[in-house]
Amino acid sequence: MSARAHLISARPLCRHSDGEEVQTQVLALAGLATLEIGFGYCRACGHIYQVRPPSAAILDQHYAAFSNYTCFDPAAARTAPPAASTRRLLTLAEARAPRAGTVYEVGCATGFHLRHFRSAGWDVGGCDPSPKAAAQAQDLFGIAVDCGFEAEILPRQKDLAVVVFSHVLEHLSDPLAALTRARDALRDDGVVLLEVPCAIAPHLMPPGWFTFEHLQYFSENALLRMLHAAGLAPIELRVAFKAELYPVIAVIAGKGAQQSRPTEDKLAALQARQFLDVLVWRDDSLWGATSRRLRDLTGPAYVWCAGVHTAQLFDRTELLKSADVLGIVDRDAQKWGHLQAERAIISPEDFRARYDEEPVVISSFASEAQIAQSLAEYGIAPKRIVRLYG
Ligand SMILES: [Zn+2]
Repeated sequence: MSARAHLISARPLCRHSDGEEVQTQVLALAGLATLEIGFGYCRACGHIYQVRPPSAAILDQHYAAFSNYTCFDPAAARTAPPAASTRRLLTLAEARAPRAGTVYEVGCATGFHLRHFRSAGWDVGGCDPSPKAAAQAQDLFGIAVDCGFEAEILPRQKDLAVVVFSHVLEHLSDPLAALTRARDALRDDGVVLLEVPCAIAPHLMPPGWFTFEHLQYFSENALLRMLHAAGLAPIELRVAFKAELYPVIAVIAGKGAQQSRPTEDKLAALQARQFLDVLVWRDDSLWGATSRRLRDLTGPAYVWCAGVHTAQLFDRTELLKSADVLGIVDRDAQKWGHLQAERAIISPEDFRARYDEEPVVISSFASEAQIAQSLAEYGIAPKRIVRLYG
């Protein structure tokens, strides 16, 4: 058990315990036990969070074994242009951050953002709990990554020009503490640069927006209150509604006066409730539409992709009951030989050896079109490819 175990708590930012659950998920995760978790908000301060999170042991196992942000194609990674997410961070840093010194990224994975910050003139460093990702950062880009959790590593850093959190804070059980540590590691004119999913515009969310890896969900208001409580003063804030699968918010913030932790805020609680009413209603209707696409699927079938989306698909539709799922195919070798919902996870090669004209359900919202194309290239008849969205 890691040192993180004691950090998991079901308390929102205000530290009250007035959480109301609005969505329950029962997830059969790849290679892990089936678990029940709950999502909701704090009736005192309006913060949206997992009111019943998974145990720290489950999360640690998930990140260590399966979700470690390593890359499949090192040759392509070496020459890849900056991703849209990297460009958003870079343009904000170039506009508002000190132009010399060290950019240190928390949860930097393989260093795919940092290499572009280095090209733009900064010194770079970072930390990540995944030994595989840290090793890849060194091999691919020559970036030395401190392997471990930020709670242990950030306190050893000082005089940083920029601390980056790109889609990291929502995974942490105590993001306010992490931001406070980041502030303490900054030089006087240093900044924190962060991006997280934004709890805004529920009609733009994909099915399954509430996901077990995300312990926190930030509205603009909640994020600003948290920054002030960490002693950070926002300099610029940008919301991008359609840049990713869901809206994201980026903020750059310098050192400021530390304000008290957010406490009771009835207006924020009401706004959270309204956001969640629409989100949950819409999520139910999206999964209802998916169920209708699967209605006629009886008999043997395969599912393509063993991941959190598939755990949600099994939870929100009758697929496991109506069809005979023979196996779940995934290209991630770390998952092969494990089970998901008691079905074997197999490699694409293994699948091709066994395949006998059964329907193949693509279980991915983000990559559905791309997977459908690969399946067609494998020679699977179009009428056997079951798409849930497109
Ligand atoms: Zn609260």
